[in-house]
Amino acid sequence: MLTNHDLVQLTKFRRELHQYPELSGKEIKTAQKILYALKDMKPSKIIDKMGGHGLAAIFDSQEKGPTLLFRAELDALPIQEKNNIPWASNLPGVSHTCGHDGHMTMLLALGRIISRNPIKCGKVVLMFQPSEENGQGARAVVSDSRYKQIKPDLAFAIHIEPGRPFGYVSTRPGLINCASLGLKVTLNGKTAHAADPSDGISPSLAVAEFIQKISEFNNGDELSNNFRLTTVTHVQIGEQSFGISPGHASIFVTLRTSNDDILSQLDKDVRGLVSNISTQFKLTFDFEIFDHFAASINDKEAHDIA
Ligand SMILES: [Zn+2]
Repeated sequence: MLTNHDLVQLTKFRRELHQYPELSGKEIKTAQKILYALKDMKPSKIIDKMGGHGLAAIFDSQEKGPTLLFRAELDALPIQEKNNIPWASNLPGVSHTCGHDGHMTMLLALGRIISRNPIKCGKVVLMFQPSEENGQGARAVVSDSRYKQIKPDLAFAIHIEPGRPFGYVSTRPGLINCASLGLKVTLNGKTAHAADPSDGISPSLAVAEFIQKISEFNNGDELSNNFRLTTVTHVQIGEQSFGISPGHASIFVTLRTSNDDILSQLDKDVRGLVSNISTQFKLTFDFEIFDHFAASINDKEAHDIA
């Protein structure tokens, strides 16, 4: 169990994490603070710099049994904090608005409990994962050659959710988070003077058609196996000027589906749409991928334990 003294220390620690947030892939000082805190708990082993700045603390009973992994994330978001609290972010434009400071502290609390009540069989791994917000950290950790030392039989993670009543937890077996992908579409034509737009090739009508047509891919509610959702999140056409007919455009689209296979099909479908519209409007095009997250599917056994 945690004592009042633990809670006071852990609250102080969370506020310190909150005050000094770091973006995905840059979690150097956060990882250092976690490393110091973990050393106090005397785990059997600490693996650092996993998949970037990730850390894994292994509590090994030396007896046969399953390996259970519990995960928290290290990174913060590129968002200006608006809270007026003494421990508000010290870094302009960066803040722990996703609550990962809370997750890290909860995992350290679990570490304190385990260090005082050693496990009787198997292993417990406390995994502090980097770069969760851009979808790169989990893949990087799993690709790390040392991952085989912590490969779990079951893995658990939580995410705080504002608006839930205090003490309330919810989960379900199967799909819990959709697969998703950020696709940046760039369309290139030719700029011209605004007085002679016919001398150029504007992507404006192509953008308008794309935005209308992409919604036709949307399908079903989130509980269906065939769920597909496209969301246009940002559009830019040409420059902020009155004298130039635009020659290029960029469109940001987020694709969400209930499984990874449907996501790659939807990605292909959207690219096909871009190709067709570009041909029609005599534009060239290219794509960039961001924030690729695999679907999170809860194992039934893990769900039942939770
Ligand atoms: Zn988060």
